Amino acid sequence: MKLEAFPLEFQGAMPILRKLQSAGYEAYYVGGSVRDILLNKPIHDVDIATSAFPAEVKELFHRTIDVGIDHGTVMVITKEATYEVTTFRTESTYQDYRRPDHVEFVRSLKEDLKRRDFTINALAVGIDGTVIDLFDGLEDLRNKVLRAVGNPYERFHEDALRMMRALRFVSHLGFTLEPNTFEAIQEYHSLLAKISVERINVEFVKFMMGSFRSAGLRSFVESECYIYCPGLRNYGEALLNFAELHGPAIPTERQAWTLLMTMLELTISDIRNLMKEWKCSNQLIKEVTQMVPALRFRLKAEWDNWSLYQLGRELALSVEYLLYYFDREPNLAKIRLLYQYLPIHSLKELAVKGNEVMEHFTYRRGPWISETLHTLEQEVVEGRLKNEKAELLAFADQFLKANSSLFNS
Ligand code: ATP
Ligand code: MG
Repeated sequence: MKLEAFPLEFQGAMPILRKLQSAGYEAYYVGGSVRDILLNKPIHDVDIATSAFPAEVKELFHRTIDVGIDHGTVMVITKEATYEVTTFRTESTYQDYRRPDHVEFVRSLKEDLKRRDFTINALAVGIDGTVIDLFDGLEDLRNKVLRAVGNPYERFHEDALRMMRALRFVSHLGFTLEPNTFEAIQEYHSLLAKISVERINVEFVKFMMGSFRSAGLRSFVESECYIYCPGLRNYGEALLNFAELHGPAIPTERQAWTLLMTMLELTISDIRNLMKEWKCSNQLIKEVTQMVPALRFRLKAEWDNWSLYQLGRELALSVEYLLYYFDREPNLAKIRLLYQYLPIHSLKELAVKGNEVMEHFTYRRGPWISETLHTLEQEVVEGRLKNEKAELLAFADQFLKANSSLFNS
């Protein structure tokens, strides 16, 4: 088979492949981008594989960066873009079912394709457009089948992450797992516990964001892989409920976690613990612990000024979008308007500042200042008080008289 036309991304990388070839090396487009072109899907990164060793690649191109030189990857920088060029390699010694601790550079494309995970990911395209298909990946693409390259038991035993990758391809492509490949996952699911959380996290997030999420989640539960992922052991049923939700692919990572945590019905502190176990960033944890209660609220009520103000525009839009998954129509335009017309958008916009409140009332510095500001803030946001200095101070006066206990604490 030959590619009829090269997509723009491939055309951009063409001078690199040509240069490698004219220097006497082999060079091919490989990996996910080849698969995605053949599936008519948009591609994100173009991977180039070559018989040239890293030092040889570096000699040929003026501008390169050693991004993963130990694994044979050199980044080649052109005027238009950057491309990862990786030397053909085999991965020989695997320890503890993890990534190989040793890679060997080789001159043979076949050896390189053999170490790849699935037949649909083991296709290569040459500069004349010929598709090199040594493991019947084209047939599997046509039949929408995900099949390990070679013996699936050996392949998952070598690197258990491949099981999670299999599930994420099910979720993204809607392919079915070839029976042997599925059986091998069922047999070896517990090896997932050996994989570093960081690596599982990357695949798991992609997994949650696939267009065929429901099928992916069902395979995740059926294969019992979920049991060996951080903190999910007791949530098989909740994950199946998650699989029941209709709606488009989840657009962002924070929305994926929010939906998952909502389906798991976790408390805020359990969400924090679980996401820490998954080594999520503090920023992401902060967003999700705000979004989950906001979604719970939104499923029962309309937005009000105060909840919108507290959450902020972007997170509120993210939460509103999630209504899709509960068979409700999100109204994003309404949120944009409501937010735009909030009397203030942050404490900075309040017409009195903390020091002004302090000077005006001349009490000793204490928690009463922030309590007062917070009250003013909420009164203004909820529209009961105008954002004008005199009015705010008069209200504060009443408030402090009625709450004299604030000074005694
Ligand atoms: P995506 O479109 O999400 O980038 P991808 O298939 O390109 O999907 P990458 O993680 O970018 O996935 O990997 C690039 C290629 O490297 C894969 O297509 C596959 O051939 C190979 N590969 C990646 N991870 C593994 C692994 N754990 N075991 C074997 N081969 C792998
Ligand atoms: Mg890729």
